[in-house]
Amino acid sequence: MSTPAAPSPVRPAFLGGSKQLFIGGRWVAAAAGEEFDTVDPASGQVIARLARGAAADVDRAVVAARAAFEGPWSRWTPLERQRLLLRIDELMLKHAEELASIETTDMGAPITRTRNTVKWISQAIRFFASCTGAATTTTASNSLPGNVMTLNHKAPLGVVGGIIPWNGPMGGQWWTIGPALATGCTCVIKPAEDASLSILRFADILAEAGVPDGVVNIVTGYGSEAGAALAAHPGVDKISFTGSTETGRRIVQASAGNLKRLQLELGGKSPDIVFADADLDAAVPGAAMGVFANSGQICYSGTRLFVQRSVQKEFVERLQRFSAGLKVGKGLDPGVDLGPLISSRQLDRVMHYVKLGGEQGARLAAGGRRLGGELAGGYFVEPTVFAGVDQRMTIAREEIFGPVISVIPFDTVDEVLKMANDTEYGLGGGVWTRHLATAHQVSQGIRAGVVWVNCYGAVDPAVGFGGCKMSGYGWKGGLEHVESFLYRKAVYMNIAG
Ligand code: NDP
Repeated sequence: MSTPAAPSPVRPAFLGGSKQLFIGGRWVAAAAGEEFDTVDPASGQVIARLARGAAADVDRAVVAARAAFEGPWSRWTPLERQRLLLRIDELMLKHAEELASIETTDMGAPITRTRNTVKWISQAIRFFASCTGAATTTTASNSLPGNVMTLNHKAPLGVVGGIIPWNGPMGGQWWTIGPALATGCTCVIKPAEDASLSILRFADILAEAGVPDGVVNIVTGYGSEAGAALAAHPGVDKISFTGSTETGRRIVQASAGNLKRLQLELGGKSPDIVFADADLDAAVPGAAMGVFANSGQICYSGTRLFVQRSVQKEFVERLQRFSAGLKVGKGLDPGVDLGPLISSRQLDRVMHYVKLGGEQGARLAAGGRRLGGELAGGYFVEPTVFAGVDQRMTIAREEIFGPVISVIPFDTVDEVLKMANDTEYGLGGGVWTRHLATAHQVSQGIRAGVVWVNCYGAVDPAVGFGGCKMSGYGWKGGLEHVESFLYRKAVYMNIAG
């Protein structure tokens, strides 16, 4: 019996028109009344207008979030918050197809990917629903004189700002909203100016599920205006930021005013290491999609692909064949493997690096062109492979954030570990080998927050991932993430009398 074909997506009715800010449970215009266009990266066409929120709007949203934090929401029990999260999950799944289509149209990823994102979000929401008891109170023994009892409380931090990038906004917002709802915090979300629509559509789902007014607020706008105002706002207790290292540094500076807590997930230039003994049938597609997935717009993409010299020639040939078999096209086409890049700016950035790779002496083994014809209106780039790359070349050092692999040959474990760690970043890494000892040695030796062995890129929300060096700090996922939305308080209680 054949499996029924997945449905073809339809253009969601949500697209078009003007979208407002979501503050205090109401849709409101930006204080200055300004808007800007947002485009479909597959066509370059305007698909909606977004409110251009700025400092005054961020202030309104923070005031609403603070009022909600101090209001009845603070008395919700863990069980009530858990039920709320599960209601959101149920409602979201009813709108799964619409949400996936909005995300695909707004940021370009293939519909197969955004459908999987909805499933991943469901898993994440259920994980956060299992953590609503994280704000615990425990007793601790002490050696104080007299009769003093000590209590350890973990209490919600307050208002959390979530600054979200464009490469996966629908899932990305849950790294802020999930732990906020689990712990009793409130939040203000600032989506990326290039991809805000799925987050805005989610606001109605949250409201319908019963999220109290002001618990989740959304301020669209430019990073330099709304984003900067949120990062600097004295009423915000923590910022959860995902994006470039450069903007991450600005967030650190802006947070200094009231010493906000920070969770920063920044850039990467992750090593993916293929040993000659690896199962190449698995390693070729695995390593290729470790970069080409989401058209290379993933922070932990394994863009520095180290291949042991004895199999390098065969590996590159297989990579060429694999890349040539990938379909690049409009994300709403269910047969597409790679969608467009997010914007013309990102397209220019990626093509700049492709040109530089050739100029610096790397051999272009596959791709390298912007696609034209019926895709000319969008921002499409072929899956691209450079072979014979030297670790010192710019394409092997800087984050490209496009479908570009740099294949770098190596001979020994020591040599490859030295090269793998010769980077300012420390987000991800991969190892392909059949030898357990090599898998252990290399996964221990890579200095990064997450390493995959004989696979690449999957993240379980209950386990999570994080970075070191200039890839940021603060773990995403798992109980540690939820607990970072709490602060600790010790109560010393003299119970003598
Ligand atoms: P940014 O880091 O500038 O943007 C990420 C988020 O931060 C967006 O919501 C952005 O808003 C916001 N932002 C921008 N400036 C400020 C500011 N001063 N204060 C507060 N928030 C701000 O990344 P870009 O979108 O400019 O992409 C550039 C490069 O960054 C990419 O090519 C890629 O290398 C890297 N990047 C890494 C990501 C990751 O997952 N680690 C995700 C996205 C990008 P707005 O979009 O409105 O500017």
